[in-house]
Amino acid sequence: MKQIDVVIRNPTGLHARPARVFVDTAKQFRSTVRVRHKEKQVNAKSLISLLTLGVESGESISIEVDGEDEAQALAALSDLVASGLGESLTDGSPTNGHAPPAAAPADALPVPANTIRGTAGAPGIALGPVFQFRRATIAVQEQAGTPTEERVRLTAALTEARTQLGWLYEQTKDRAGVEEAAIFEVHRDLLDDPDLLANVHALIDGGQSAAQAWQRATEDQATALSQLADPLLAERTTDVRDVGERVLRVLTHAASTAPVLPAEPFILIANDLTPSETAALDPARVLGFCTAIGGPNAHTAILARALGLPAVVSAGSGVLELVDHTFAILDGGAGTLTTQPDEATLAQAKAAQEQLRSRRSAEAATAAEAAITRDGHRVEVVANVGGVEDARKAAALGAEGVGLLRTEFLFLQRDQPPSEDEQYAVYRDIVTAMQGQPVIVRTLDIGGDKPLPYLNLPSEENPFLGQRGIRLCLAHPDILREQLRAIFRAAAHGPLRIMFPMIADLQELRAARKLIDEIRATTDAPQVEIGIMIEVPAAALMADLFAPKIDFFSIGTNDLTQYTLAMDRTNPLVAAHADGLHPAVLRLIERTVQGAHAAGKWVGVCGELGSDPLAVPILIGLGVDELSVSAPAVPTVKAQIRGLTLADCREQARRALGCATAAEVRQGAMHVEI
Ligand code: PEP
Ligand code: MG
Repeated sequence: MKQIDVVIRNPTGLHARPARVFVDTAKQFRSTVRVRHKEKQVNAKSLISLLTLGVESGESISIEVDGEDEAQALAALSDLVASGLGESLTDGSPTNGHAPPAAAPADALPVPANTIRGTAGAPGIALGPVFQFRRATIAVQEQAGTPTEERVRLTAALTEARTQLGWLYEQTKDRAGVEEAAIFEVHRDLLDDPDLLANVHALIDGGQSAAQAWQRATEDQATALSQLADPLLAERTTDVRDVGERVLRVLTHAASTAPVLPAEPFILIANDLTPSETAALDPARVLGFCTAIGGPNAHTAILARALGLPAVVSAGSGVLELVDHTFAILDGGAGTLTTQPDEATLAQAKAAQEQLRSRRSAEAATAAEAAITRDGHRVEVVANVGGVEDARKAAALGAEGVGLLRTEFLFLQRDQPPSEDEQYAVYRDIVTAMQGQPVIVRTLDIGGDKPLPYLNLPSEENPFLGQRGIRLCLAHPDILREQLRAIFRAAAHGPLRIMFPMIADLQELRAARKLIDEIRATTDAPQVEIGIMIEVPAAALMADLFAPKIDFFSIGTNDLTQYTLAMDRTNPLVAAHADGLHPAVLRLIERTVQGAHAAGKWVGVCGELGSDPLAVPILIGLGVDELSVSAPAVPTVKAQIRGLTLADCREQARRALGCATAAEVRQGAMHVEI
């Protein structure tokens, strides 16, 4: 047996990441490795056990190694400790598995110290206590099979959890960076923790079910960690519970990820929300939300705007440290969350909220009237909807139709695709809700930030550049066939148009049209207008060739912006800069309009740019005929249009096209050659 005493010099002690490095190295040797600290000695191949030592910076540990390769193991481990276990020993870099709260950008306006600055996700001001999103508790069955059966169950659940965590790691790495994703590697290691597994197996042998044993063992470990004096180490409790619940959900087939939320209205805080979680939020209780990651053009923010929920996204992991029930002001338009405001700030926020309310009610009073500029130019204002409720809301708010029905929300968060009948019923109800106004049904647009688990799609390095939208549907034509059948059946109930997403070349349009002809021939359906989304720069550049072959274009500025500027709309590092008012995007819009109008076809904009007050006059000036916006924005956009003149819009568009940057466009500045 060999032994050495070493001092842990990591700025925050032997916390999760350095401990993981230590454990990984210890596991490479056959010898047993134990670490002693104060009165306690643990197995150094168990991450949880090592963490429960609670070793703080400057404290010493004793490493004891026993076995055939003990000399090498001791040398490797003591060298590793001396070199900082993968961390810098001097810079005090973030060490709790989360990046520090996002620093304000250099050009940010000065904000009060208690204000977290994120990115504007959805407009509106909310005042209330914050509350962090937590998943529902899981009911565990007590009935157990034989120990062998329960072990098999446990192994299968651990394998499934490992797969989920691998996927989560990749997704978080893509969306938020390696630093934020690292925590899921720690979670994956916890699944293999020898001490934890030994405890679970002992409980199973004692007659407990895999779920009971796993719950008890993880809860014991979490409790041990929570009692540590060091708050950073005590924080690992959440990780053990998180991993514990993940496996438990698999073991109990508990699909529910619904949050347990307080009864009183509150501001929701979350690392991120999936579109379906956002959709499930009750606007009567959730005043607004603030997420640590995400982007303004990701579907979560889009949904927030549709729900009329103020939202701040990409606020950094600092928001996750806020204590539940802390009073805060969420300003979705400014992208800020101010905690414990002083009297003056609170009074200001209340006044702004009141002003916004009275403006909205004035706009609502004229919502049913047409949007005609002061010099007589009419612009259609229609709505983006994701379901029947949205459509009813849109009709009530003066929408002149549906410019984009995102059918994918029917396909998400379930184990299998919706049947043709199920789809038909939803499309029919939406067409009926719009009372004779046209509905543009976009065929399934899956991929990117909208994965579909039951299709077993291979994971892709760059999902936004992969098999998305029409590409995926053409690769799985039966899904598209079924959807088209449902759409054609619904067409009997009112005016309906079909639109294909993500078209990049004419061959895709030809293939999609062929399916349309095939399906229509088998139904009694009337002819419907066919359009395509312009979201890929290639399609915008080829608009003159597409135009004779379609009935309309609808520009998806969210994707057109991300693909033109090469900025992932969900990546918090760049999403805030993915501005659709970039002159390059505007030039592509201009080109699309020219191509369409030359062939006598019309152009809509259904991306989020359509409801940006600075973009509205520019888009109209570029010749866009229709704006499709979230339902709550319909009255506002209509009211804005009534205050404009087409002549002025054209002048603004001309100036914008001459600018060099989105910032210049926003300032209304002319590009000056330097
Ligand atoms: C767009 O890309 O602008 C669009 C409207 O489609 P989605 O946001 O659903 O990708
Ligand atoms: Mg799109």
